[in-house]
Amino acid sequence: MARASWRERIETARLARVATARSRIRRTVTHRDGARCVVDGRELLNFCSNDYLGLSQHYAVVGALQDAASREGAGGLGSHLVCGHHTLHDQLEKELADWLGTPRALLFGSGYLANLAVVQAVLGDEDVCVQDRLNHASLIDAARLAGCRLRRYPHNDPEGAIRQLRGMPDGVAMLATDGVFSMDGDIAPLRELALVARVQNALLYVDDAHGVGVVGPDGQGSVAEARLSVEQVPLQLATLGKALGGYGAAVLGDHALIEHLAETARPYLYTTALPPAQAAASLAAVKLARSEHWRREKLVELAARFRERARSAGLALLPSDTPIQPVMVGDDARALSMAAALERFGYWVAAIRPPTVPEGRARLRVTLSALHATADVDGLVEALLRARDRAEAEARIAAI
Ligand code: PMP
Repeated sequence: MARASWRERIETARLARVATARSRIRRTVTHRDGARCVVDGRELLNFCSNDYLGLSQHYAVVGALQDAASREGAGGLGSHLVCGHHTLHDQLEKELADWLGTPRALLFGSGYLANLAVVQAVLGDEDVCVQDRLNHASLIDAARLAGCRLRRYPHNDPEGAIRQLRGMPDGVAMLATDGVFSMDGDIAPLRELALVARVQNALLYVDDAHGVGVVGPDGQGSVAEARLSVEQVPLQLATLGKALGGYGAAVLGDHALIEHLAETARPYLYTTALPPAQAAASLAAVKLARSEHWRREKLVELAARFRERARSAGLALLPSDTPIQPVMVGDDARALSMAAALERFGYWVAAIRPPTVPEGRARLRVTLSALHATADVDGLVEALLRARDRAEAEARIAAI
């Protein structure tokens, strides 16, 4: 067999992406100012950021980052087990554990790395990872890289989860779910899943990247909102890069599991520690997230208003009460054309297409922030309607 050309392979893949409207285009932001930003020279109102609480530019967060950077420098210097571990990391881990009500927390460079670490440190070849079909890509990749058996159950279906676990009676089992689903915005039925995990002796792992800071009275996320203890959810993920406005992540859980991760997880051991200045920024952000309830209250109000207006205008929504409010479009090309029209009207909304979401489920993923005003949301709904009309007219013309 002759060696294939790698250049031909990537060109074929590129052409296939173009033909199926699956090309991904990277945009460049030249300036950020709250929910407004300048993208490729045009000022847009951002409805696709994960800065839900609006903390990324808060003076206390930025000030903490600047102060710590001027004292401790910009970098991480080394991995945590060599020379990278700093007292600011310790302080942030303690603050996060205290907030979420778990014995321990362990910081990671990102949520993606943290998910790789958790699955790999707990599961091996003989084991099984049972996951919700709509879990984030990093959890799917984590199971693939860990080499364990991966089984997926229908979205938010605890009975499907138990069937998968029963069908895999050998080895150690993990039941992994997003807390708040990143593309749908709905919340996992965690109490039912905890029951399934207990009956099947599986470790329940909740990736609450989009829940921490946003869900629950003090923002402790979907695990606390479901009133589940660390015995029921031995590990959960919080990200620093979404509601907390920074970068990085933490895994929270009991002592034994966290120690095991710190000593054995390759994505913890073989990577540079988060810069201490970033930990300082997140410490300031956690304090604000814990105390400034108005940010969550505002998000609830904005989501309710968006839903009420969008629904009465005939836009197709999913059952979500979180700041993630997808507008279902279905067709990939139509989602792209609506996003382009929205941009012309001054709104930045991401068109999300397969493989990020299932086939035929393309959507505009609207995300709300405490920085948005009610009038911004009203303006967005009007712009969505105009964008939908344009996309329909374009489709009619294309069909002639
Ligand atoms: N889990 C979920 C559910 C996510 O949405 C994301 C990021 N989009 C991650 C994990 C990864 O987190 P990070 O961006 O910090 O790598």
